[in-house]
Order: sequence, then C-alpha cells, then structure tokens
Amino acid sequence: MQRNTRQREAIRLAFLGNAHPMTPAEVRETAEAYADGIGIATVYRALKQLCRDGWLVRLELPGEQVSYYERAQQHHHHFVCRLCQRLSKVEGCPPNLRELTPDGCMLEDHQLLLYGVCATCRGGQAP
Ligand SMILES: [Zn+2]
Ligand SMILES: [Zn+2]
Repeated sequence: MQRNTRQREAIRLAFLGNAHPMTPAEVRETAEAYADGIGIATVYRALKQLCRDGWLVRLELPGEQVSYYERAQQHHHHFVCRLCQRLSKVEGCPPNLRELTPDGCMLEDHQLLLYGVCATCRGGQAP
C-alpha cells in the first residue's frame, strides 16, 4: 500500500476504534497506533477529504478555536468536559423544544451542548 493511502487508512481506523469526537491533534495521536510518522498536515488533508466524502462531520464549539471531527451519524448532542475538553455523545434529545419556541416562530433546528466534568476527570468512578 502507498504511504499516503496507508496513512489515510490509519486515520479512518482511529475513528472506527474511538467513539468520541476528536481534535486533529488527537486524531494524529490515535492514528499513530496504526501507522508511524503521520504529520499534522496529512491529518488535516485526510479530515477534509473524509468530510467531503460525507464520512466525517466537523463540529465547532462556541468560543473554541479548535474543531472536532466525528463519524457522520444520526442527529445527536454532546457533553463537553471543561477540564480535558473531551466530547462525549449524548443519547437522546429534549422532547419539548416546540413548547420553548416563542409564539409565532417556527422551529427549524437546534443544537445542544452540555458542559461539566467527565468521568475520567472525576477519577474514573461512574456514579
Ligand atoms: Zn475530562
Ligand atoms: Zn436534538
């Protein structure tokens, strides 16, 4: 396999083996397990291509410089850890958003971000 192809494949494997959304730096770190010496420029190129292919989506957080990437999937939301900035997927979606919509307005879309401290940062203990 060509070097570039192998590196792109390593980046895909990084996403398949990792459920939470990743920053480019995290993608690079994770992909290192599958192929050596992946440069950050290669990571950015591959991420861009995989987004174009519809395999990945880019997530931007309000007030954050860095973007996150995750596998394209059904509508869902995220929990952001304030300490390690790791994103986790949130199951479920608030049911009563239409009731919150001001009178006379038509709800078309929504985003939801939960902020807090993740299980790892809390000491790995699930409650
Ligand atoms: Zn954390
Ligand atoms: Zn939702």
